[in-house]
Amino acid sequence: MKFVVSFFLAITVSFSLHAQQQSFQDWLEELREEARSLGIGDSTLAALASLLPVERVLELDKSQPEFVQTFTRYTNLRITPGQISRGQNLLLEHGALLNQVRAEYGVQPHYLVSFWALESNYGRATGGFSVLQALATLAYDPRRADFFRNELLTALKIIDGGHISANAMSGSWAGAMGQLQFMPSTFDRYAIDGDSDGKIDIWNSLPDIFASAANFLSQSGWRGDERWGREVLLPVGFDFTLSGTGVRKTVNEWSDLGIRQVSGSILPTADMLGSIVLPAGASGPVFLVYSNYRTTMVWNRSTFYALSVGHLADRLTGGSQIQHMPLDERALRREEVLELQQLLNEEGFDAGSVDGILGSQTRTAIRGFQAGRDMPTDGYASYALLELLRAGLN
Ligand code: CA
Repeated sequence: MKFVVSFFLAITVSFSLHAQQQSFQDWLEELREEARSLGIGDSTLAALASLLPVERVLELDKSQPEFVQTFTRYTNLRITPGQISRGQNLLLEHGALLNQVRAEYGVQPHYLVSFWALESNYGRATGGFSVLQALATLAYDPRRADFFRNELLTALKIIDGGHISANAMSGSWAGAMGQLQFMPSTFDRYAIDGDSDGKIDIWNSLPDIFASAANFLSQSGWRGDERWGREVLLPVGFDFTLSGTGVRKTVNEWSDLGIRQVSGSILPTADMLGSIVLPAGASGPVFLVYSNYRTTMVWNRSTFYALSVGHLADRLTGGSQIQHMPLDERALRREEVLELQQLLNEEGFDAGSVDGILGSQTRTAIRGFQAGRDMPTDGYASYALLELLRAGLN
């Protein structure tokens, strides 16, 4: 009897494993049928025949960086003297086109060029992966299958629309395409045929590239008569619970709280709402960010990205470098973040699950720890903070 039961269990287990992972070819056949039912033509569907999962895409998708990214490292890599002078030259070279796009969509040329720089180094780094291969690999993988399946079907729709061939549709390992690194769904919703040749080509056509970026920004709420933000100074005794994009005040209210321009002078009077952002904690630079910063975060949800787009745009038009960059900031290793979270939990500050991710719960826990020690409550995970926590437990 015992034998019979385990034999039955073995069959069940092997059956459920099989049901979980369909073969790639069977999966592709189902996808082909779904695409066909959506009206994708046979000549486009032929591009699916040669697809195979790409191991490198999965490796890149699963890889975890050894160090936590710091604002200093992030900006030093992306905003170099070479990048700035190249961007200034491109602003001049394409001035007529950029001003035409501005007239139509209301996005200032130096911001368009800054997005272009951050996304693809002005078109030089667009990613060498086949978008169909990359998306098929990620859509077959069960972790985020629905999201990538939808992107893959949209990529097929773009090819079927005659905008680009399957072979020329190149992009990042995650399927971000061309000089703006648009995902297919973003292309589908926002990309524009700027030169009216009947094709939307964000891989090669600058009129299409600038019009598409400007259309995305304009539709996302960009204000063509406002700047993105600026570096500022905090008053002594600033209440750090007022920092972060969750708190919005008018420029005048921030002035009343003692916020000054980085030069020390009074903020210009403006009827704009802003938030205080500290990308490197209380000892790093402080920024007052406005509506266009929030719109930049619709494009890419990273704080470092949004600050870099704004700052590079300033530099392209002669603005000065960030004044209060932290010196020699020691980046935390992943295992140090795990240790930090563990120590916070042991000290009674709830950092949530020990996952190596510096999310809002970890930052709140750090604030709690800082408040108890009369430190600036910036919620910033620095190496110095980790050392304090280690010492506290000795
Ligand atoms: Ca075009």
